[in-house]
Amino acid sequence: MKKRNIVVANWKMNPETLEEAKKVFNGARLAAKGLKNTDVVVCPPFSFIFPLSKVIYPKNMFLGAQNASTEIKGAFTGEISVEMIKNLSAKFVIVGHSERRAMGESNEIVRKKLQITFNTGLTPILCIGEKERDKEGTHLAFIKNQIKECLADLHKKYLVGIIIAYEPIWAIGKSYKEAMSPTDIHVIVLYIRKVLAEICGRDIANSAKILYGGSVESQNALEILEIGNVEGFLVGHASLKPEEFKEILQTADVKK
Ligand code: PEP
Repeated sequence: MKKRNIVVANWKMNPETLEEAKKVFNGARLAAKGLKNTDVVVCPPFSFIFPLSKVIYPKNMFLGAQNASTEIKGAFTGEISVEMIKNLSAKFVIVGHSERRAMGESNEIVRKKLQITFNTGLTPILCIGEKERDKEGTHLAFIKNQIKECLADLHKKYLVGIIIAYEPIWAIGKSYKEAMSPTDIHVIVLYIRKVLAEICGRDIANSAKILYGGSVESQNALEILEIGNVEGFLVGHASLKPEEFKEILQTADVKK
């Protein structure tokens, strides 16, 4: 059976007001309504998850968090637990985003966050990706190591259908002209599946959903889907522009 595409909106630390958040959310809601084959996951800052959960949105749309604590509860000032996220009716958690990794999140921390997210019954979106590339291909070894360490000792039952967002750090937060080329994305998608097959077997590798993130805009979405052979996107800045995001969603839905 063909997998559904999935488009994740990572709002990061935006927008500044709830009023603006509601507007952006409403744009995504209206766009999601018309989709047949695509799921939409909106990940606002924590403070907006609860008020947005009160809005009625379509069945193919979900709320997600951008991060979660490695701990269940207790004296961890400033942290938000997966259970709290679940209680806000969010279903997804972005884990290991490069901007969190830049704040010191190691593969071991990401692994703990994956485990605790799975335990709580939420769906993690695991982000991986290299800082830079070189002709020697050391970025491939880097990606392999990220996957290995992040998935180490996780029970295989959790890994069926795992969502992995491949986000080369050098391509994040720019314009579509500076995104990774669809052909290169395709090579990495094949590589990620190969690594997954080595670690957890071919069935899990085939079941995984691999998304691309890094300057996806309406202009490059179609060729990334078609040539890159991904099953969706993780969208940063473009997800805050309702018209732009709508176009990306419609593109994701048409390509089946
Ligand atoms: C991101 O940070 O996850 C991301 C994909 O950002 P952008 O789309 O802005 O490159």
